[in-house]
Amino acid sequence: MNFVVCIKQVPGTTEIKIDPVTNTLVREGVESIINPFDTYALEEGVRLKERCGGKVIALSMGPPQAEAALREAISLGADEAVLLSDRAFAGSDTWATSYALSRAIARLGDCDLIICGRQTLDGDTGQVGPELAEMLQIPFVAYVSNVEEIRDGYIRVQRMVEEGYELFEMPLPAVITVVKEINVPRLPSLRGSMKARTAKITVWGGDDIGADAGKSGVSGSPTRVVRIFFPKRVCKSEVFKGPVEEQVEQLAERLEQVI
Ligand SMILES: Cc1cc2nc3c(=O)[nH]c(=O)nc-3n(C[C@H](O)[C@H](O)[C@H](O)COP(=O)(O)OP(=O)(O)OC[C@H]3O[C@@H](n4cnc5c(N)ncnc54)[C@H](O)[C@@H]3O)c2cc1C
Repeated sequence: MNFVVCIKQVPGTTEIKIDPVTNTLVREGVESIINPFDTYALEEGVRLKERCGGKVIALSMGPPQAEAALREAISLGADEAVLLSDRAFAGSDTWATSYALSRAIARLGDCDLIICGRQTLDGDTGQVGPELAEMLQIPFVAYVSNVEEIRDGYIRVQRMVEEGYELFEMPLPAVITVVKEINVPRLPSLRGSMKARTAKITVWGGDDIGADAGKSGVSGSPTRVVRIFFPKRVCKSEVFKGPVEEQVEQLAERLEQVI
């Protein structure tokens, strides 16, 4: 079976800084890591490969430095890695990102299961998994916390919902997004680290995946970031004085004013 794990390189901090002029992430001086949820996706892909045989392909779209994330994926058990990197992809919103990833998956061919993290640390939308499934026209389940059974053309997964768990059966190929409860990611092995150092990372641009220029990058992105800002928190306090009954009346008046 062939497993494709989608991996995004993100800034290794929860304190995301935005450039107020360009409305894009400030990446300078911030260490880059594999998006934490994607380490669970990768671990699950590797475990499923160990269970059923086959291979794991790590797939990422990003700038050339995202190669480091893919090398790390190889050290953690991925067999192959593909980086989608092209100026034509710059400025992609989630829709254009999913389009490029779906084209790459189509080119890879013969994928049984596509595994994504539930969301990223930076973009944080959780949209790429479901969009990918829609573009590939295959079934999708989000928040998967256990792959109960997988065999040729069939998968049964458990997914977390607020009140408990739900079980889904789907035909393969399919897309799942996973939560951190699904496994405990392994550490890189010595053999894996050595393999990662010399592994060939395949780099594809728009032409390699037959991407339509009108569906890629800024021109293929229906979303526009108009403004990014932190909500202003205004803390005003007021002290009511006098007998309690008067204070209650004053409070009621104030509440009426604000409602
Ligand atoms: C108008 C607009 C312009 C943007 N311009 C830029 C830009 O110039 N540069 C930039 O870096 N970002 C840009 N972004 C952000 C970019 O669109 C998102 O980072 C990207 O689409 C993924 O969305 P997300 O981070 O919310 O992923 P989510 O949907 O939260 O991710 C879910 C899962 O999908 C997979 N996934 C997500 N992204 C990737 C990826 N790139 N490769 C492989 N797997 C992935 C992972 O498994 C991840 O766990 C822009 C966004 C908008 C709206």
